[in-house]
Amino acid sequence: MASAPSVSMTQGAESARSGLDADALRRGIVDNLVCLQGRHLALATPRDWYMALAYSVRDRMLARWSATVESYTEREIRVACYLSAEFLIGPQLGNNLINLGIEANARAALRSLGQNLDTLLAIEEEPGLGNGGLGRLAACYLDSLATLEIPAIGYGIRYEFGIFHQDIRDGSQVELTDKWLQWGNPWEFVRPDVSFYVAFGGHTNNEIDAQGRFVVRWIPAHQVKGVACDMPILGYRVNTCNALRLWKSEAVESFDLQDFNAGDYYEAVQEKVISETLSKVLYPNDEPEAGKRLRLAQQYFFVSCSLQDMLRLLDRRREPVEHFANMFTAQLNDTHPSIAVAELMRLLVDERLVPWDEAWDITRRTFAYTNHTLLPEALETWGVPLFQSLLPRPLEIIYEINRRFLDEVRQRHPGDDARIARMSLIDERGEKRVRMAHLSTIGSHAVNGVAALHSALLRQTILRDFAELWPERFHNVTNGVTPRRFMLLSNPGLARLLDETVGDGWVTDLRRLRNLDAHADDSTFQEEWREVKRSNKQVLAQRIRNVTDILLDPDALFDVQVKRIHEYKRQHLNALYIVTLYQRLRLNPGQDIVPRCFIFGGKAAPGYAMAKLMIRLITGVAEVVNNDPAMDGRLKVVFFPNFNVKNAHFIYPAADLSEQISTAGKEASGTGNMKFMMNGALTIGTLDGANVEIREEVGDENFFLFGLTAEQVERVKHEGYRPAVHVESNAELREALNLIEGGFFSRGDPQAFRPLVENLLQVDPFLVLADYADYVTCQDRVSAAWQDPGRWTRMSILNTAHSEKFSSDRAIDEYCERIWKICPVRIALDSPRRPTGPPA
Ligand SMILES: *Cc1c(COP(=O)(O)O)cnc(C)c1O
Repeated sequence: MASAPSVSMTQGAESARSGLDADALRRGIVDNLVCLQGRHLALATPRDWYMALAYSVRDRMLARWSATVESYTEREIRVACYLSAEFLIGPQLGNNLINLGIEANARAALRSLGQNLDTLLAIEEEPGLGNGGLGRLAACYLDSLATLEIPAIGYGIRYEFGIFHQDIRDGSQVELTDKWLQWGNPWEFVRPDVSFYVAFGGHTNNEIDAQGRFVVRWIPAHQVKGVACDMPILGYRVNTCNALRLWKSEAVESFDLQDFNAGDYYEAVQEKVISETLSKVLYPNDEPEAGKRLRLAQQYFFVSCSLQDMLRLLDRRREPVEHFANMFTAQLNDTHPSIAVAELMRLLVDERLVPWDEAWDITRRTFAYTNHTLLPEALETWGVPLFQSLLPRPLEIIYEINRRFLDEVRQRHPGDDARIARMSLIDERGEKRVRMAHLSTIGSHAVNGVAALHSALLRQTILRDFAELWPERFHNVTNGVTPRRFMLLSNPGLARLLDETVGDGWVTDLRRLRNLDAHADDSTFQEEWREVKRSNKQVLAQRIRNVTDILLDPDALFDVQVKRIHEYKRQHLNALYIVTLYQRLRLNPGQDIVPRCFIFGGKAAPGYAMAKLMIRLITGVAEVVNNDPAMDGRLKVVFFPNFNVKNAHFIYPAADLSEQISTAGKEASGTGNMKFMMNGALTIGTLDGANVEIREEVGDENFFLFGLTAEQVERVKHEGYRPAVHVESNAELREALNLIEGGFFSRGDPQAFRPLVENLLQVDPFLVLADYADYVTCQDRVSAAWQDPGRWTRMSILNTAHSEKFSSDRAIDEYCERIWKICPVRIALDSPRRPTGPPA
């Protein structure tokens, strides 16, 4: 047992709360263990130690945080507000340690207390407040905003239960509740003083106020209280520490008077349930589920709280409401927060009595909208009756926005009723529905897609009429990911080699990685590069062994596809190739093939039957292939359960091959593709999303391209696609489908995969069979390249070397310059105390 620190308050010693050296950290950890965690040293569990360390790291962020927040309220500066229903921020401890530059000191402090940093890092539960790419993008952007010293606030929802925990039982996905808050969250500050009321239901009255003005009064059926829960977001080696402000809902005592008076007891009870469950759970779907009242309530709840908070900050600076759009710019991350357009209008017109035209000008200058999908089924719409019953006043405002907007369109295109119907905020075909993408577009001064191809398709397809009307509003900002988390933190071996080779400036300036070009053919450097990758593969293999009992050979090619399970992402195309390889080896056991480990991971939406069947197919193929002695270990298939940020940390760095095989035109950007590239994986991919730009950056000779282009996909569909044709002309494909349909991978059950196979043969909505042959040929080229280690390593080095464009720092720079018109603000600490930086 460690003894209590004896000299904790010696003059000259660094403070136990703010000192960055190992001794101050050690004293801080012990203090926090006793005083905050309330544990005696002798009884402390690893979790207690984790909490004590987290508090000690947090202590060291607080001076920066208050200096940052103070400067934002006192100075004439513009703040970027990132509105997102999801923030998939991942574990915080490791990231905060490296951003503070105290990882080595913390390690030493813990060692002196008999504790191990890696053990404590592994204990942290990650806040799973997002589904996948969209939520992770928001988190990468927060990291870059703070690192680039941009004044920013992230606004979202503090879900009590995040994305479900995925278990695999009998080869199938089982969803378990994500109780990420059960042990408390050391990074969170609840601010009961920062809370707002949000109205729901009821009706509106037109009235004349005391000054004789026409006003609309919304008399809600009930109200919900939103309370701010803040998490600090520290930049890398800077003093900027921005806030991620997440709202949690609470019931308001007298919320149901209205309904009780009307005698509608059941309505009152139902609404009470809504207010108490509003921020309970994240919807576990990449796409909107039609008609989910609670989901619309969640969106309105967090947007209304956030806009009210922005108005509060404006008032605190004693700025007039007319300056709103000068002080704030607000980015809508997809349409989930798009109700903000109507809500800001409501707050300005109804509550601040700003004239409509002026309010509309402020609103448009405030918002910008990022679109994330072209899939028609993923475009968010809400039925007017549901909208009316939940948000009667915002709906009136939407109708008024629409009336004025359509008048404008009519003036330009007299008599073009078809255009009016296409552009209206209300889809009038069938049950009337509010089109949220249109609301976002009309209410914003800028609209962007998330990769060059996606932005082009956006202008040509779903937002074509709008792009014709306002061409200057349309932009592209290709997504990016943070090199702090996805290289420095999760791939320390690579980081060390990069530091030695190009200097440590690469962490905030990936352009420096270009200097690797000069080393790509250097055989000594190649050897070191391979050693880093091999060691990462060993770590992953060990994790996989612990979790799944499957043994992988770290010298085999690690072929990885991790992302949400979706038909458009085509994990089943990958599975068909595995079956093909397996079949070849069964027919010709002596064949000399490249040993491969196929590693899959990803969650399926609980209600998406086909995606769940795709998981069963992968686990079914894994069971057969892994246990067939004829394979002699040359093929291994793994489904890694519960893909999340924490697991992502050791999967991306261990990949040799990155599978980015979506149907062209369907993946808006992808960000996983970028994480793989930075970590030296080669990509096999279609010309889709950011793959197009990855290939441009790294060069065609360092990218494995296959498949139809987006244009060809459209043409094939237009001309009447017949998937069976591809089966008739390809014996290997026929055989693979026969094996699957015959029950070979479902313990003899021929029913198991029938829906999947029949769907492919009859409809194949994502052209899996059309791309199969080209994919197989391309995979064979991958194998050939692997057999020449010098060539492969060169390509791997060049992928990292040319990954600069895919840093979220570049993306945030573009948003700041082209869309937000916002500049960095250097934050000074009162008593400047330079971070010591990691000791050598
Ligand atoms: C990056 C990331 C994603 C997005 O992956 P894509 O391949 O772009 O779909 C999803 N989930 C997690 C945990 C991630 O880190």
